[in-house]
Amino acid sequence: MSTLLEMSGVSVTFDGFKAINNLSFQIGEPEMRAIIGPNGAGKTTFMDIVTGKTKPDEGRVTWGDNNISLLGLSESQIAREGVGRKFQKPTVFEAQTVRENLAMALKNPRGPFDVLFYKKTKRGAERIEALAEQIGLSDSLTRPAGELSHGQKQWLEIGMLLAQEPRLLLVDEPAAGMTPAEREKTTEMLVEAAKTRAVVVVEHDMEFVRRLNCKVTVLNEGSVLAEGSIDHVTKDPQVIDVYLGR
Ligand code: ADP
Repeated sequence: MSTLLEMSGVSVTFDGFKAINNLSFQIGEPEMRAIIGPNGAGKTTFMDIVTGKTKPDEGRVTWGDNNISLLGLSESQIAREGVGRKFQKPTVFEAQTVRENLAMALKNPRGPFDVLFYKKTKRGAERIEALAEQIGLSDSLTRPAGELSHGQKQWLEIGMLLAQEPRLLLVDEPAAGMTPAEREKTTEMLVEAAKTRAVVVVEHDMEFVRRLNCKVTVLNEGSVLAEGSIDHVTKDPQVIDVYLGR
């Protein structure tokens, strides 16, 4: 496993308040990582830094095989480098079918003018079927996305992100509002996705994090409070203090 993304000494200040405070973080490729932490810990700001939405005041953020700096790149350049982000609320095209949604998201290997053509090729069709299988929606390819359940919409959006072949996928609270069965399927999907890429899951649900069976980073007040297995971090007295507010 080689390092894909590395942050060191990163700080972000909003109106004099340090939302991220001397944060250091590394993730490999492939790797699954869960990020937990109380409200206001800096989880959203962390994701905003990775995607380029927020630029730090201090520190380094390096990426990829040649350790390029992400700090000088725009959000769209960072997306093209292979950073995908799943927000909490599903954003799919409700009037389009599952197949059409996946087709729109497919990464085009031959430049923007080939997009429509590529989607009609055998390779494009096969890629869509493989993605649909990966997200458990093979039987729903012809259904409008608006008819899907909340959980299925989340999966479709995960599929649309995977269609872009990201090297790093950031996922914000994927299990929120899901039934236990849907959570289980979501776990499997993310674990599978993390076999070939880096996946960062920001999640409040500890049981869900436990099932991901991965290294956990605990953020608090914009810094890493603890890091390790879920058993290790949940036994850490500082983590217990922060969560129980003692
Ligand atoms: P989390 O996602 O862990 O709940 P956030 O990254 O959203 O935490 O926020 C970290 C801290 O930074 C919070 O105290 C929040 O109020 C503050 N913050 C976040 N964004 C802004 C902003 N645009 N302006 C001022 N303060 C902000």
